[in-house]
Amino acid sequence: MGCCDTPGLMPIDTAIEKMLESITPVSTVFDIPLENAMGHVLSQAITSPMNVPPFDNSAMDGYAVRMADLTQQTQLPLAGKSFAGVPFTGEWPQGTCIRIMTGAQIPVGCDAVIMQEQATAQGDLVDFTQALPLKPYQNIRPTGDDIQQGALVLPQGHRLTTRDIPLIATLGIPSVQVFSKPKVAFFSTGDELKPLGTELKAGEIYDSNRYGIKAMLEKFGCEAIDLGVIPDDKAQLKQAFQNAQQQADVVITSGGVSVGEADYTKQILDELGEIGFWKIAMKPGKPFAFGKLLATTEHQAAIFCGLPGNPVSAMLTFYILVQPLLAKLAGHSEWQPQPNLPAVATTVFKKSPGRTDYQRGIYCLNDQGQLEVSTTGNQSSGAFRSMSIANCFVVLEQERGRVEVGETVNIQMFRPEFY
Ligand code: AMP
Ligand code: MG
Repeated sequence: MGCCDTPGLMPIDTAIEKMLESITPVSTVFDIPLENAMGHVLSQAITSPMNVPPFDNSAMDGYAVRMADLTQQTQLPLAGKSFAGVPFTGEWPQGTCIRIMTGAQIPVGCDAVIMQEQATAQGDLVDFTQALPLKPYQNIRPTGDDIQQGALVLPQGHRLTTRDIPLIATLGIPSVQVFSKPKVAFFSTGDELKPLGTELKAGEIYDSNRYGIKAMLEKFGCEAIDLGVIPDDKAQLKQAFQNAQQQADVVITSGGVSVGEADYTKQILDELGEIGFWKIAMKPGKPFAFGKLLATTEHQAAIFCGLPGNPVSAMLTFYILVQPLLAKLAGHSEWQPQPNLPAVATTVFKKSPGRTDYQRGIYCLNDQGQLEVSTTGNQSSGAFRSMSIANCFVVLEQERGRVEVGETVNIQMFRPEFY
């Protein structure tokens, strides 16, 4: 059974393409000190203003020599020292060696460093018998060996990681130019939802989606604007949408997009903008709303994403559908979804054909070094524990049915933002 057999369901890739078409990346930029730049997206490529290392230096504690001096003899008298930050500056007579430390500048004329473990010093005379023969330029780190002056180090659109920060520091760059973070306002909808710290009455549950969405947004590098829980009331919802639009580039809601309850969101968005309620060929997460809140004299335009209310569906649709959109908005041009990796099923995965299923799984490497994956158990879209104990999605193709033990399935390891 293919996608054509399930009319009305939009393939995931089509939904993402449609959304991406309507996104214009943020264009405002600012300078930020390097120590605060982690997670920001570069609005300008970084090219190296200098060679790294900036001078030839020693990779070892030992002795700097001229190789020619060791062709006639195996012992050389010491003529001085070169320490890190305190180079040798004197005259270096032929037939002598210089004590040198790791990171110290190589004296002019030196063409090899002998590690101290291969040398025996007796007073001022050092014996190098054990170190012979030498290789030209051994233990010397040449100028520009790591990075050449003028080289492209990080491209525009790169999101800075912990590994990039010391790299940029090495180049002596104290601040970088980055894009402003996208502003995302979000609220939960539902009369049954109560914020944490309040007591539940009959029929009420705690609002969990808002906490998850906030955590994801912040990990993803967005400015998260939490607008709380809004009851299923048209006037209050409309007010919330306008309030959200005023403050944000994107408005995200959860709940109220499935049949029946969707009415208010649909009615309000018909008044404030353009909206599509999509049935996506994905499970969980079928109902999803996407549209635009149009600019008015008081409010700027904003993108709208309406996530389903069930907690697993809300997080999954955010992960699969909203993250690519936020990446484009943030100018994060290198962003890629996680690759599919083949893994052998060690448990059954129940499924019926029709939608791409993102089941929650736990992968590990078996004794042969192959990936194996087992189910987390209950796959209900309301059972959030399946998400919490998982370390991957098991992506079961739209047309696929039940998976038996031993079959190969695709897994997607969770993105770092999910940890
Ligand atoms: P809805 O999409 O509004 O019909 O909600 C579907 C299911 O998700 C219902 O069981 C809701 O109670 C639940 N739900 C909706 N929003 C949230 C939320 N923010 N946190 C936890 N559960 C929710
Ligand atoms: Mg609801």
